[in-house]
Amino acid sequence: MLTESNRFFWTSGADGKLRFLRCTACRNYIHPPSPVCDKCLCRELAVEAVSGRATLAAVTVNHQMWMPNMEPPYVVGIVEIEEQDSVRLTTNIVACDEADLAIGMSLQVEFQEYEDVFLPVFRPVSSPPGADGKNPTGDA
Ligand SMILES: [Zn+2]
Repeated sequence: MLTESNRFFWTSGADGKLRFLRCTACRNYIHPPSPVCDKCLCRELAVEAVSGRATLAAVTVNHQMWMPNMEPPYVVGIVEIEEQDSVRLTTNIVACDEADLAIGMSLQVEFQEYEDVFLPVFRPVSSPPGADGKNPTGDA
């Protein structure tokens, strides 16, 4: 699964940040990783961190075992990153009740570590990590 060209993506979460290749010429984000910018064909690409914010574009709830390390039901979503909506990830949506899923909802990345891979998954922005009923910002 890990290759020289995608290793940065699958290990990026080690410091909690999501990263993509970005064209240094036209500033286009490129995903999945490719040696060439799909917009301007430039080969000068650099890995850059993004905010980790994304929007839910499509969603499917699975009630059957699909991956050995995940208990059903679980939610498979397609998300568009905040920086560029053409960059889409097929991922898991976590910490969200099925009834609360809504296309267009705001999501925030978090990472699940499996051996040397940090799998990016997304949770609703309204449900921050460690949510326990308290409001972490202190706002009413
Ligand atoms: Zn480019």
